[in-house]
Parts: sequence; structure tokens; C-alpha cells
Amino acid sequence: MNEKRDYYEVLGAARSATQVEIKKAYRSLARKYHPDVSKDPNAEEKFKGINEAYEILSDEEKRAAYDRFGHAGVSGAGAGFGGFGGFSGAGRDPFEIFEEVFGGFGFGGGGRRSKTGPRRGADLRYDMTLEFKEAIFGVEKEIEIPRQETCTHCKGTGAEPGSKPLRCPDCNGAGEVRRQAGFFINITACPRCNGAGKIITSPCSGCNGRGKMLKRRKLNVKIPAGVDDGNQIRLAGEGEDGSKGGPPGNLYVVIRVKAHRFFHRVKNNIHVELAINIVQAALGDEIEIPTLNNPIARAIPAGTQTGDTITLKGLGVPRLRRDGTSTSRGNQIITLQVKTPTNLTKHQRDLLLELGKTLDSQVVPQKEKGFFDKVKNIFLNTVLPI
Ligand SMILES: [Zn+2]
Ligand SMILES: [Zn+2]
Repeated sequence: MNEKRDYYEVLGAARSATQVEIKKAYRSLARKYHPDVSKDPNAEEKFKGINEAYEILSDEEKRAAYDRFGHAGVSGAGAGFGGFGGFSGAGRDPFEIFEEVFGGFGFGGGGRRSKTGPRRGADLRYDMTLEFKEAIFGVEKEIEIPRQETCTHCKGTGAEPGSKPLRCPDCNGAGEVRRQAGFFINITACPRCNGAGKIITSPCSGCNGRGKMLKRRKLNVKIPAGVDDGNQIRLAGEGEDGSKGGPPGNLYVVIRVKAHRFFHRVKNNIHVELAINIVQAALGDEIEIPTLNNPIARAIPAGTQTGDTITLKGLGVPRLRRDGTSTSRGNQIITLQVKTPTNLTKHQRDLLLELGKTLDSQVVPQKEKGFFDKVKNIFLNTVLPI
């Protein structure tokens, strides 16, 4: 085992760096060494190291332990790690929201696929359906994913513990065969041992020699406030285990959001249509407006028309950033519809007839309203406390 590098050195950050600086350093390096993007032959290794360093340094508690005790302070039990395989269960970093940026899955494991060397584990996909409000306010969900994990019985070697694999006679244990072709030497994985360099005589009884076994893993996934339909959340390292020391793949949680009965989301704004009657429209009224939080009473002015809107600032959807944090919320926009009464009683009819005598009944063509005229009708724009 080589000596572990200093986490600050890995991220190129000063020991006194702020969280913002650490995050900045991490993101630029993560982008540079993402195994699916980088041409660096050691990209996977570096990417893993960067993520590991960031996981510690981005957490104040773990960072403090690391500052005091070095690597010993943050490895193993009792050092702030809980949950599975060294990751804390919920809301772990590195964590990133994708808005279908990469447009799909399975981009791990491809590329530099070496037959003999370490191989990155496959990426996994999990489709999660959220209630409308869960997506807006965030939620924590336990999911169960079947995935290939390193066999615990043979630790991935595929050989029964205690048994001795034979050195492959074809490649002499090298795992690869060389063939001279003119000036060139072709190096291919040894077909006899499949590049392993050894031949297993007694396969592991736990995994039948595969080195891996299918397990159902439970994970707590923290869904941040503001996710939208189609967003992908990447849980780094929660995909399938790699082979021969290769890093694990990622788990991508794909978000689907159920429609709401009357709220409608457009980006960070929430739209709702409310019907009022002709008397409320003509005389004004105080109405109760449903919001994502509690209902709010608002006055509507006399002379309200269909299509007039009310904007409730800050009662929309939190603006979600790629790192899973969110900033201020968008707005809620209410569009009012004046409802013409139907199924009138005789009394109501008489009242309306009486009213009708006082109204101008001449039909007047209207100038078509332009967009800006409509905007002028947004009459209530006061900031409300959330
Ligand atoms: Zn095994
Ligand atoms: Zn061989």
C-alpha cells in the first residue's frame, strides 16, 4: 500500500481554506479528472482520491478530526463515518444534481476498459417517483438496490479461501500474451486465464468463482428541496463494485414528480388558477389562497378581471444548485378566473335582471390586449413573509 496523500494536497487547497474555496477546488478538479471526460490514464484513481478528500474536508466535523489526527482520524469506525462501506448513510458528498447533462447512464466502465487491470464498477440507475410537495421541500427516502458487490467470502479473488490458484502456464502469470507482427508487438489478454494470470482450481463456494455476488443494499437518499422531474442525483461510489481494485460505479437516482391536483410548476414558480364569482370580482373580497405552505388570506380589489394575477413572492420552489443546496424560492402566481354563474334560482335571476337594467348593454368591440397590457394587470406585488 502506498502512503496516503494529504487531503489538502490532493485538492490543492490551503489548510486555512474556507468551505467555499474547498468546494471550488474540488469541483474544478472533479471536472478535470472525471473518468468519463479525462484523458489522463490515472483519471479514475485521481478522481477517487479527489472525492475522498472532498468528503472529509467538506464536512467540518471530519475535517477537524483530520486536521488533528491525520488519516487515522477519519478512517474506520468511531471517526464520524456511519452507514455503509465508509460512507455516511444520508446526504453524503460527493453528490451532484444533473439535469440530464450527460443524457444517460452507463458512461462509467466504458472507455479505458482494460482486460487485465482494474475495472470500474458499472453505474446503476434507480427511478424514484416523488409526490409534488416532496420534490419541492425535499425528502429522505430509503431505497433498496440490487447490485453486484465484491464477494465477502473470497474478497473478490474467486478462489476458495485457503486454496492456491495455479500460475497460468500460457502466460506465465503475466495475464497477457505478446505476439510479434512485423515491427509491432500486439499485447492481448491471455485467453486461457482471461488476463488473471492464474487459474483457479477450487472456485469460491460463496460466489462460484465469480468474485462477486448479488446483494440487495438499502440506502438512505436525501432528496434536496427543489428537484424537478427528470433531474438525476448522482451518488458517487454507490454503483456496483469494481473489479481487481477498480473503483465502484455510481448510482444515479432519476427523479419523477407526480402532478398536483391544482398546483402547476414552471421552473421555480408555482401556478394556480382560482375561480371567483362575479360579485367578488366586481366588489372585491378577501379570499383564501392555497399555497405550498399554509393558506394565505389576500384582498382582491374591486373590478378584478379574468386573467388578473396575484404574485406571492418567495412562495414558489427553492432554486436548486448542482451541489444539492438551494437558494431563495421562486414565486407563486395566482391567475383569477371570473366565473359566470349558472343554474340560477328565480331569486338570483330577478336580482341579476334588476342589475342588468342599470348596466350598459351595448356590445363594444375591444382592442386586442397586448402582452404589456396584460402585465399591467398584475396588481398585487407585495412581498409576503414565508
Ligand atoms: Zn467468492
Ligand atoms: Zn494466462
